[in-house]
Amino acid sequence: MTRDLAGLRSVRGVLFDMDGVIYVGTKPLAGVQQAIDYLAETGRKFLFVTNNASKTPEQFVKRLAEMDIHIQPDQVLGSAEATASWLASQMGQPGWPRGPVIVMGQDGLKVALQKNGFELTTDPDAATYAVAGINFHLTYDELANVTLAIRRGAKFIGTNSDATFPSERGFLPGAGSILALLSTASGQQPQVIGKPNRGMYEQAMARLNVTPDQTLMVGDRYDTDISGAIPLGLWTAGILTGISTRNDFEQASPRPDLIVNDLPDLVAQLRQADNR
Ligand SMILES: [Mg+2]
Repeated sequence: MTRDLAGLRSVRGVLFDMDGVIYVGTKPLAGVQQAIDYLAETGRKFLFVTNNASKTPEQFVKRLAEMDIHIQPDQVLGSAEATASWLASQMGQPGWPRGPVIVMGQDGLKVALQKNGFELTTDPDAATYAVAGINFHLTYDELANVTLAIRRGAKFIGTNSDATFPSERGFLPGAGSILALLSTASGQQPQVIGKPNRGMYEQAMARLNVTPDQTLMVGDRYDTDISGAIPLGLWTAGILTGISTRNDFEQASPRPDLIVNDLPDLVAQLRQADNR
């Protein structure tokens, strides 16, 4: 079933995936500023949403500024931040006592957890939660400690399950590969927050203070960006500047509401809905 695109007028917040939507590699894509300006002009908010958990918001802002894309730290949500704020939102619910966290991850994740009030530990016996994501410097000792923590009852949470990520060298092991190792070693499956899981979209909408029918998710990968947003009731736009092709989006079930060539095309289609 397709929705009447005139409903896009009620969109108040737009979530943009980053790689393949805002930039590719280190190159900004066309129309980023134009899209940001149109959203501001029509009273809409936006958030850049990425499964990348290695960076703090300030580090993302700096990386984007190097591509001449200028945003504020609260306009980007990585899965580290989303995981930390999601975990904080669980506190006090039955089975979710406040307690120390053992981390497999980098600054992005550690800083986000601390900012959300969590104490970090490296002691497997002290950990109430084990939170894992990408770590480019992981050691066997860290893997052992996080495994032991999970085996001794720490709740196992993952930032995102991307098996690989692209690099100049080819596809390298991503957070999902690290989760798979910890999962095999501990016998436990993690609860994962990043796209396509609902936690990420929920934290993003909470940040913008919008409901699903007021939210548009723009992404280049059907299986991560779009497939998770549809069941929650968000508007979705598949964009053709990254991984998925027009054919992928057209053949997908359910299909995204919009398929756009690039950001200028997205603005044109939003403008059309606004003027209807
Ligand atoms: Mg992408």
